[in-house]
Amino acid sequence: MRYFVSAGWPYLYDVPGLHNCVPMLFADVTARFLRSRGDEVFYLCGGDEHGSRVEFVAKGLGKRPQELVDEKYRETVPLLKAMGISVDSFGRTSDPRHKEFVRSFLLELRERGKVSAKPVEVPYCPRCSKHLPDRFLQGRCPHCGDTTYGGQCGNKRACGKMIASMRDGRCALCGETVEFRAREHWVLPVSPYRLRIMPHVGSDRRNQAEVVRRVEETFRDIPEVTLTRDTSWGIPLVESERERTVYSWADSLLAKISGAPEELWKDAATRKLFFLGMDGVPFYGVLLPSLLLAAEKGHSVSHWTLLPNEVLIYEGGVCSKSTGTGIWLKEALSVLEGDFWRFHIYYTYARAEKHADFRWERFVEAVNTLLIHGLEESVTRAVAAPSAGEVDRERLGNIRASFAEVDTAGAFRRTLELVIDPGVSRATLLEAMPLLGCFIPRIAERALRRLEGSADRIFDGRPLSHQELRVRYQALVDERRDRQTLQEEVTNLRADSLCVCPINLKEQ
Ligand SMILES: [Zn+2]
Ligand SMILES: [Zn+2]
Repeated sequence: MRYFVSAGWPYLYDVPGLHNCVPMLFADVTARFLRSRGDEVFYLCGGDEHGSRVEFVAKGLGKRPQELVDEKYRETVPLLKAMGISVDSFGRTSDPRHKEFVRSFLLELRERGKVSAKPVEVPYCPRCSKHLPDRFLQGRCPHCGDTTYGGQCGNKRACGKMIASMRDGRCALCGETVEFRAREHWVLPVSPYRLRIMPHVGSDRRNQAEVVRRVEETFRDIPEVTLTRDTSWGIPLVESERERTVYSWADSLLAKISGAPEELWKDAATRKLFFLGMDGVPFYGVLLPSLLLAAEKGHSVSHWTLLPNEVLIYEGGVCSKSTGTGIWLKEALSVLEGDFWRFHIYYTYARAEKHADFRWERFVEAVNTLLIHGLEESVTRAVAAPSAGEVDRERLGNIRASFAEVDTAGAFRRTLELVIDPGVSRATLLEAMPLLGCFIPRIAERALRRLEGSADRIFDGRPLSHQELRVRYQALVDERRDRQTLQEEVTNLRADSLCVCPINLKEQ
């Protein structure tokens, strides 16, 4: 079977943190499992480099947006590799080839009358003399009443709807009450595609009722989507109008097409798995398939599965910067190998901890007990056993079934229970290691070598010390803070206080 697996790297303008990896880590488990089963997989990740959020932060830092995203790209990609994220490609929306793809895709839609240009009332700040696309606009969501930015409601769990027009809109730069001005924008009606899209959404999997509900709701609330914005940081469609660019969501959705082999999208049998936050559902469920159907270029919208990762709200992020609890990838990977951090995320998720705030002590205790002691012991015991024993087909079968269902929590729990079971046989462990390797690939590889007799140990035998790790980690973070300019700190804090990321949300 052929699979297209996708996950995004959110917040490319921020310091890369462990929380940013969560969607990719979940996609990674599935991509690794499918490959191990012999399926053909293309796993695409991408950074959304355009849009008003990037422009907003770059402005505050006194940098050009391109400069900011280039820096972040150089900083981020090696960290993802160190985390063992097995992407086939990490796409960039500022890539000239992608920009050309988007431009010709949309121009053709326009020529064929699928997209029209029409006057749209857009917010404008008289004090800043600036049109206010999404991130530059603050106000209240017309659906739930929460304070948010424009474009999409920031209350991502309870609402997260696309916002056509904001209530009580103010300029996010200066706080001035906005005026509305009619501007010509490109608009794609999406309702004509509803009946062709709905049968495919979630049809491949169980437990998709919430996704289907949100997609239906988007079709009802937003019959057409404005595809352009008044911002210069993006892809201009017409050379003479560089201030009007493609809406960053349309831009980044089309990166899923431009960044993957064409035959993958044109094969109706390809299974598409989109790992995303609940807030991505209206875009992946409505806007992307509508764009593809409107284009009539033979891109398939069948086997369309959205996998919103709703359970884990990882409070290690931008919002805890002030309390110092954030887990920043660069420093985290300097004190411990990526597999331990992967383990932490899956373990937290498997325990269904809805608000996973990070505690060194708890993290280190789990690693010591379950891996450094538990896994090492069971492998040592199996190696010393007189025979390889029987293969536990039933438990391995159950694990594979969880993987196939994309039940990542279940697959993790079952795999971990099996590999640290004191009674597990060598024959079973040999078959279980590739499955454990979907979660913690490097540790599983060492365990396999140990089982095959080509290594003495998996770990070096010393339990981790949470005090020691915390001190080393904190020293590295402080060192980076010292290097950061004051301006950067201030901008980050400002960006934080206005942050609309999901980890910001408290239980409603
Ligand atoms: Zn203003
Ligand atoms: Zn809302």
